Amino acid sequence: MSIAIYPGSFDPFTVGHLHIAERACRLFDRLIIAVAEQNYKNTLFNLEERKSFILDAISHLPNCDIAVYQDLTVKLARQCGASAIIRGLRAISDYEYEMQVAAVNKHLDEEIETVFLMANADYTFISSSTIKQVCSAGGSISGLVTPMVENAMRKKLSGSVNRTVSNF
Ligand code: ADP
Repeated sequence: MSIAIYPGSFDPFTVGHLHIAERACRLFDRLIIAVAEQNYKNTLFNLEERKSFILDAISHLPNCDIAVYQDLTVKLARQCGASAIIRGLRAISDYEYEMQVAAVNKHLDEEIETVFLMANADYTFISSSTIKQVCSAGGSISGLVTPMVENAMRKKLSGSVNRTVSNF
């Protein structure tokens, strides 16, 4: 059985993430979306919220489930019996960072392969951070995230007294 993990902070899960997960589910017998419990990023949503958004979004994918991890990605891959780490590439700007991470992971465990999937052309501009900026500046994020995430973002950000000034 071929197993892959798809790690990330998913703060929050977007349609770009979902598209990568759907495609990985066709390439592997089982896909585990690995949600980073905590990393260098301060997350807007806590772990339980981020997990619930993903579970809601992947309900149509029978060979996909989620795991939580807090240390090395390759360690989780080993624990899950996964042979591959899935990452998405949107633009050349992703490439340098992703290549470095893939090289470190290869150094840590040479049997685990990183598999890159190119973002769908319609989703290359979507990132969790862009969505947070657009939403907190009062813009529409409809169609970029699931309705569950959209509602949660509106609730979370409606409490902000000052609207954030974004680049958009
Ligand atoms: P991390 O905090 O590890 O960067 P993210 O949650 O931001 O995690 O993203 C997880 C993975 O999904 C990364 O490989 C990222 O490049 C990819 N990704 C994010 N948004 C998109 C998108 N719109 N299309 C394709 N891949 C994406």
